[in-house]
Amino acid sequence: MYVQLGGGTVEKEREALTVFDPTTGEAIDTVPALTKADIDRAVETAAEGQREWAAKPQTERNRILRHFAELLLSRRAELGELLCRENGKRIAEAEEEFDTVAALVESYCDKASHLYGVSLPNGTDATNCHGDMIVTRHEPVGVVACLLPFNFPVELCGHKIAPALAAGNAVIIKPPSDCPLAIIRLVDCLHEAGVPAGAAQVVTGRGSVIGDTLVSHPGIAAITMTGGTETGAHIAEVAAKNLTRCYFELGGNDAFVVMDDADIDWTIGQALEGRANNAGQVCCASKRFIVHESVFGAFTDKLILALKGLKIGDPMDRSMDIGGMISEKARDEVVRQIRRTVEQGAKLVYGGEPQGKNFLIPAVLTNVTGAMDVARDMEIFGAVFPIMTFRTAEEALALVNNCPYGLNSAVFSRDMAKAISFAERVQAGSVIVNGGSNYRTATMPFGGYKKSGVGREGSSHTLLEFTQEKSYVLRNVLGNL
Ligand code: NAP
Repeated sequence: MYVQLGGGTVEKEREALTVFDPTTGEAIDTVPALTKADIDRAVETAAEGQREWAAKPQTERNRILRHFAELLLSRRAELGELLCRENGKRIAEAEEEFDTVAALVESYCDKASHLYGVSLPNGTDATNCHGDMIVTRHEPVGVVACLLPFNFPVELCGHKIAPALAAGNAVIIKPPSDCPLAIIRLVDCLHEAGVPAGAAQVVTGRGSVIGDTLVSHPGIAAITMTGGTETGAHIAEVAAKNLTRCYFELGGNDAFVVMDDADIDWTIGQALEGRANNAGQVCCASKRFIVHESVFGAFTDKLILALKGLKIGDPMDRSMDIGGMISEKARDEVVRQIRRTVEQGAKLVYGGEPQGKNFLIPAVLTNVTGAMDVARDMEIFGAVFPIMTFRTAEEALALVNNCPYGLNSAVFSRDMAKAISFAERVQAGSVIVNGGSNYRTATMPFGGYKKSGVGREGSSHTLLEFTQEKSYVLRNVLGNL
């Protein structure tokens, strides 16, 4: 596949990265492995593209972006299949990513139409500015670098480009190297809809090779990155040189707390949804199950029974409940993490066996304690259910907060006051009461406490982050009304 860069086309015959179907190992396509010089060219062109894009009235930008959303939806089946093949995720999950992008575009176009500045009351200062008028406007920041992870590349691209473009910025999108193809096609749709080529570019190549050049470039005004905490911390360090503003959505080790009065049957459905979705490769998946000792037996038995009923296999087969993982390497890493937890004293009571090239039978681990890595900083990116027990709410809370991450969290109880009082003391960006932590809407402010991120994403929140407010001071234009 080619990429359009700096208004020109980079053919795939250049030094290339191969994209594989992780389910079969078959090579699907190649993308150019761009060089540092290509990145410099992309940033320079983006500055020009941004001026052209920002010069369009908001109504025109909105018309183009809405057309882009229509194009995406009209190609949903074809693009969904491409994402499914390059990523290994279930076809239904792949298609839904495009729906989310369309919803985000709609929401940010509306919001950008009502992005008002302020007019300051005059005469309230003790200085000699009483004849002056001061008004503010939100102006674009410039060129925004959008770095995407493999697990929801399209949906998370929408969370970044919809506000950035609606506000009049240019975007340079760095897709994950494992699955860049759907993003390249998405950028084609932006161009077809009328976004200038320079205002929306995609740069392919390993983050470890081109990443520093992109994020340290003085022409980049803002960085929005979703991915691992270690990568985020590295980017923050590199970007600090230019004081570039950074927003991060990073790793998580979300807790799923089951109180003694919870509806156990309901928690099981939520545990599956929270942990098995996208084969467990979800930042806000429930990754630590903290269950009251009085319901531990019922919870564990029912969970294993439910897991035995799930169908795992070909992600293109719509009858499957769990698809494949991003790669054989990623699956094997999860198997290694299960083994490490067992070595630390946990008991593997169900599953955990690899299947085929990139499938994993979900695993259930019991005898897990707060001292183990999995209970603290070891994020497992696969369908693994480590279960810990507690006696008092204080013990449960200590387990929940004994973790450097704080993305989402879940608490189940029939007593709403008890659940809310618990939620107040949880150190996480969102607490889902009577629902799994795998919960995110396009509008809610989504983001983490502690090492799970900096900033919030969601159309109720993001937009101002990609603008800068300028004061226009008109001196001596007012009389003494
Ligand atoms: P990752 O390895 O950190 O990669 C994320 C992106 O950063 C990729 O595009 C990667 O490019 C790029 N990158 C790598 N090194 C870089 C560097 N030195 N400079 C600039 N960019 C660089 O993350 P992942 O494995 O794709 O995703 C899984 C992680 O993301 C998990 O920890 C998960 O919890 C987190 N996540 C968080 C959220 C959230 O909203 N909080 C959502 C989804 C995922 P390459 O692909 O070329 O290496």
